[in-house]
Amino acid sequence: MIYLDNAATTPMSKKALDVYNLYASELFYNPSGIYDVAVAVKNDIEEAKETIKHALHTLNGNIIFTSSATEANNLAIFGCLKSNFKKIVLSKAEHPSVYNIGIELQNRGFNVEFCPLQSNGQIDYEALEEILDENTNLISIMHVSNETGAINDLKKINEIRKRKCPKAILHVDGVQAFTKIKVNLDYFGVDLYTISAHKINGPKGVAALFVKNNLFLKPIIFGGGQEQNIRSGTENVPAIMAFKTAIQDVGDIDKNFEYVSFLKKIFLSNLNDLPYKNNSGDENSPYILSLSFKGVKGETLVHMLEEHKIYISTGSACSSKKSGNRVLLSMNISPNDIVGSVRISFSKNNTEHEVIEASKILKETYYNLIDKLR
Ligand code: PLP
Repeated sequence: MIYLDNAATTPMSKKALDVYNLYASELFYNPSGIYDVAVAVKNDIEEAKETIKHALHTLNGNIIFTSSATEANNLAIFGCLKSNFKKIVLSKAEHPSVYNIGIELQNRGFNVEFCPLQSNGQIDYEALEEILDENTNLISIMHVSNETGAINDLKKINEIRKRKCPKAILHVDGVQAFTKIKVNLDYFGVDLYTISAHKINGPKGVAALFVKNNLFLKPIIFGGGQEQNIRSGTENVPAIMAFKTAIQDVGDIDKNFEYVSFLKKIFLSNLNDLPYKNNSGDENSPYILSLSFKGVKGETLVHMLEEHKIYISTGSACSSKKSGNRVLLSMNISPNDIVGSVRISFSKNNTEHEVIEASKILKETYYNLIDKLR
């Protein structure tokens, strides 16, 4: 099996799984307990938050654990939403867990504007400059695109915000960036930042939201007051602790980046004369590659590769069942190229051999398919 759909999810590492099992069995105590073993578990959760803050390079905020990045994105936006908000700005590249909040807010009567994209998948910074004004209360723009790997320049976005609407809150969905590229929240100056465990060899069912000091968030889930009264519900301790282990297990981000760039390069060089369009520029995250093949359906390629136990996707897992691809469309990619698009997403755990094998079979599969269609 060759798994090249790492942007959809990843397997849990052995170390993370061991820690998960430890906290699911031996150290199973409820962190709200007041006796010693429960307090020790609560302290372990606090340490996990410190590990995350360290990985995000920030000293100025809090971590709130949630059940998914989808929930963290909902908490970020609904948690700071006020009925008198005049303008909310999102980007056209956002994952459905942000984009569909924008649609919902429009349905509820809010003024929501979607910032267009450049052909390389990054947001159009000039358009953002135009859209933001003193009426803007909230901005949500992702760090790395889950469709193309495009990296948005958060420093630049923050500078535009400071110039045009210094009081607006800035939320960033960092799910595909965290531990893959350097993230320095204090340098970027963002207020809210979402990360998820299952994209980095941690467990499913846990994610986190960074909240900058002095930013008041209203809860969207009510109950026993866990997570500083912002996210009630007994903490998913095994998953939180396995998340911490997965982060500690990432290794050197720069070295991983270099290695994955090498894998991407080999993969592409093996496709050489195949007729395809690369929707992911060289400056994008090497972890995510969007390619459009001429004259075939991406979906058919995915299923034909599946017969060889090679797993890629037609786009993000959340959009793969929907017709078209909103993000590629916003990059002005032609409908034919969108139909022929696939997403290949690498991990530091993929080998050179896997990548060579996958590209070789992809090439054969493409030519077989073209022959059949003739
Ligand atoms: N944001 C981005 C950029 C993603 O890629 C994903 C998952 O694909 C999510 C949010 C949602 O993550 P979760 O599955 O943890 O809800």
